[in-house]
Amino acid sequence: MNIIEAVHIKTASVREKADVVVVGSGAGGAVMAYELAAAGKKVVLLEAGPYVPSTAFNENYADMFDRLFVDKARQTNVDGDLNILQGSCVGGSTVVNATVALRVPDWILEQWHEEFGVEGMGPAELGPKFDLVEKRLWIHANQPHEINQNSQLMKRGCEALGWSVRPTPRNIKNCALAGYCMAGCRYDRKQSMLVTYVPWAIEKGARVYADARVEEIRMEGGRATGVGAVIRDPRTGRMKATLVVEADAVVLAAGAVQTPLLLLKNGVANSSGQVGLNFSCHPSLNIIGVFEAVVKGWEGALQGVLCDEFAPDDKGGVLFQGACPDAFLLNGFSVPGIGSECVPLARRADHMTNMVQLNHDANVGRVYLEDGMKKIEYRVSPEDRERMRKGFKAGARIWFAAGAKEVVLPTIIPTVLRSEKDLDLVDDMPMEPGDLSMLSYHPQGSCRMGADPAKTVVNSWGQCHDVPNLVVADASIFPTSVLVNTQLPVYVAATHFADLMNQEPERYFG
Ligand SMILES: Cc1cc2nc3c(=O)[nH]c(=O)nc-3n(C[C@H](O)[C@H](O)[C@H](O)COP(=O)(O)OP(=O)(O)OC[C@H]3O[C@@H](n4cnc5c(N)ncnc54)[C@H](O)[C@@H]3O)c2cc1C
Repeated sequence: MNIIEAVHIKTASVREKADVVVVGSGAGGAVMAYELAAAGKKVVLLEAGPYVPSTAFNENYADMFDRLFVDKARQTNVDGDLNILQGSCVGGSTVVNATVALRVPDWILEQWHEEFGVEGMGPAELGPKFDLVEKRLWIHANQPHEINQNSQLMKRGCEALGWSVRPTPRNIKNCALAGYCMAGCRYDRKQSMLVTYVPWAIEKGARVYADARVEEIRMEGGRATGVGAVIRDPRTGRMKATLVVEADAVVLAAGAVQTPLLLLKNGVANSSGQVGLNFSCHPSLNIIGVFEAVVKGWEGALQGVLCDEFAPDDKGGVLFQGACPDAFLLNGFSVPGIGSECVPLARRADHMTNMVQLNHDANVGRVYLEDGMKKIEYRVSPEDRERMRKGFKAGARIWFAAGAKEVVLPTIIPTVLRSEKDLDLVDDMPMEPGDLSMLSYHPQGSCRMGADPAKTVVNSWGQCHDVPNLVVADASIFPTSVLVNTQLPVYVAATHFADLMNQEPERYFG
């Protein structure tokens, strides 16, 4: 692919001129770059992470964490009980995501309109955009052969309880059933940005740089005039060159952690004081079933079925997704305990099943800089802790109904339930900061969108209230948690903002 990497740079400073410069090549940035380039705009797309072609993916999580993830997959909150996963490579988090592709529930889009004054993004307006992206990215509900033993058991448990369960929709074309989506799909079946919108944008004339971290948002007279970046050799970290892109509009799509940090660092677009606040992340918890028979829950497609029985807010705001990573990840991320305590359970990894409990959460977090260092403050709100508790009980019931002999909950001090009678233990389970082992795949909300410039950072056109030609098009704009996995919501928000930029240029390029 025609991507400009550090290795190609021969001068100490590089300059580019564009109509639009896009920062970040993940779900938001890649879509913006393609849609704008396809409409004839001169686009430069800058990505901080390296270009790693699919042929270099080796299904070894340790290697792939090092090469494809932010902070080698060790980004955490300040308390250290939440591992916040993000991709950092051409294609961003879409390269390492688990391919679940769900629409934002209508009631959430309606809430954005009613509570935050968001215009033009209701179910009727976004419906055709969801249709378009779903078609382009081959999003379809899993076929029977894509539902592995792990998810078959989860389905059996849900059906025994009479709970709603269905094949998971995924953005994948002819899944190879390898199960290593989160280490990058070496078979190119996952329709990530690396193999779709980024090459499509290049085909339409966009210039794409890897290894180029934007540090500066250049401003003049209240408008953005471009960005300044540093290009580093990804192997040594050594600076290779500086890069300045002059542009008529700047699109930030660096993800819900880096986009607010860029704004804060540059002192831009924060008259509301809201930049970096309202961070939510769908704190996720793994619930393990332990079966007498060997299950090898990781064989086959990673994501099989989902249970949405408790998805509505008034029923808990919890989604369960059948997904069991390989024994390395299962033991590393899910099996509780410390040191030798883990060993007896870890030895039984091939008898285990796993489901992810995804929680709709309040916007209680904050992303900020302290002495120039990134900090992410996030503590589950008391209400959300109770939602989680209910979720643990429901998740455990699914595994027991499927025949599990034990259910292991994601607490630091191991909590093992041996039958439904033990469900009461969940009521007294400690759930203070530091008691749970949580993961976030879905950081969002840190530059929220809305009509009121005093309470929100961007308007319904994606423009920063303070700077009309500075657009945010990533997961940081969501005014509330979207409940569902975030990729499809980001693709559609970016498609929508790009359409607006193409249809109403005077609003942005003034
Ligand atoms: C392990 C994992 C599993 C997931 N599973 C799912 C799933 O199954 N389904 C789903 O819907 N979602 C999933 N997600 C989440 C989904 O992929 C993200 O919500 C989505 O990609 C977010 O899009 P984004 O544009 O906000 O950010 P990203 O896709 O993260 O892209 C941001 C990009 O910006 C780059 N960047 C950051 N700072 C700078 C800078 N200063 N200069 C230049 N570039 C910069 C980053 O390196 C990154 O490549 C998963 C995520 C992870 C990490």
